[in-house]
Amino acid sequence: MKVGIIGGGQLARMLALAGHPLGIETIVLDPAFDACAGAVTRQLRGAYDDRNQLKALADDVDVITYEFENVPEQALQSLADLASVYPSPNALATGRDRLREKTLLSMTLGIPTAPFAAVDSREELESAAADIGLPAVLKTRTLGYDGKGQYVLRGIEDIDAAWGQLGSVPLVLEGFVEFEREVSIIAVRSRNGEIRCYPLIENVHTDGILRLSHCRPGDPQQATAEDYIGRLLDSLGYVGVIALELFQADDRLLANEMAPRVHNSGHLTIEGAETSQFENHLRAICGLPLGQTTPVGYSAMLNLIGDLPDPAAVLAVPGAHFHAYGKAAREGRKVGHITVRAENTTELERRMENVRDTLST
Ligand code: AMP
Repeated sequence: MKVGIIGGGQLARMLALAGHPLGIETIVLDPAFDACAGAVTRQLRGAYDDRNQLKALADDVDVITYEFENVPEQALQSLADLASVYPSPNALATGRDRLREKTLLSMTLGIPTAPFAAVDSREELESAAADIGLPAVLKTRTLGYDGKGQYVLRGIEDIDAAWGQLGSVPLVLEGFVEFEREVSIIAVRSRNGEIRCYPLIENVHTDGILRLSHCRPGDPQQATAEDYIGRLLDSLGYVGVIALELFQADDRLLANEMAPRVHNSGHLTIEGAETSQFENHLRAICGLPLGQTTPVGYSAMLNLIGDLPDPAAVLAVPGAHFHAYGKAAREGRKVGHITVRAENTTELERRMENVRDTLST
């Protein structure tokens, strides 16, 4: 099997690495000369809407997937005319537009979310703020990631600044959730509709960027999260791995956003699950049997942002696994991650502490 991947970042790199032992060949399409997946698999260099490269990719592979939401819709649609694309262009179009996504989750599927409203003018912002109440979060409908394209309105005096910063594009205003914790559920759906879910993952974000994830086998919210993601997967006729990010507030789960792809919070499944999210995504889109999603021990992941620590110091901690993405250091950039695994949670926290110590020296 040959899989084409739109985008050549770290998610494509980890997909390619998961494909090797299965005999699945991957080819990535990315415009960058230093695309980090290019170091481990073949790369076609070209813009995501380069018709010739898209056609070359479609001709060369059995199935096409993508590693990010902002693939131009037209490009994916034209690929879908030439080859099998999973997850479907409809799933991508839903995941990339916060209004469409929240409308599907909340109105169609009855999954609780924060209150939200479309905002296309300053007047609409004022009336949405009055309806929803403040604090609230103003977000761009598309192209937002890692907390970019967001403005937290604490009071009506913030409306001018928020509109000045974001008002040139379609927006959505969401009620601010005073959450107790953030979690994600990652699941995979096969071509014939079988669904498998990973244990809930608890996440800590700083400045909108994921910093820390803990796998939580046996979490009391597991069944609710599985119910929500099952509804979402079935409604989209989805094939592949998906992530749903949720807030927990007052013992309720509120859906925040979906990612129609492998997800940063699922990196710990490489060492912390029977089958990683990357392998399961490939299995699903290639029509192979899905792998077990059962956890292996207890695991947690730390994102490495900006630059890499000394790998030798990290690897000296038992149970620590080091992943470098082959990217140049740059402030705010995800350049790698560390997964730590242990037999119990006490030992996991002790090892995490030891890993953190290596980062601060
Ligand atoms: P998002 O791009 O929607 O995933 O937002 C990035 C991060 O901003 C989330 O992981 C939360 O930490 C925070 N955030 C986003 N939306 C809300 C909200 N409605 N209420 C409170 N915090 C939020």
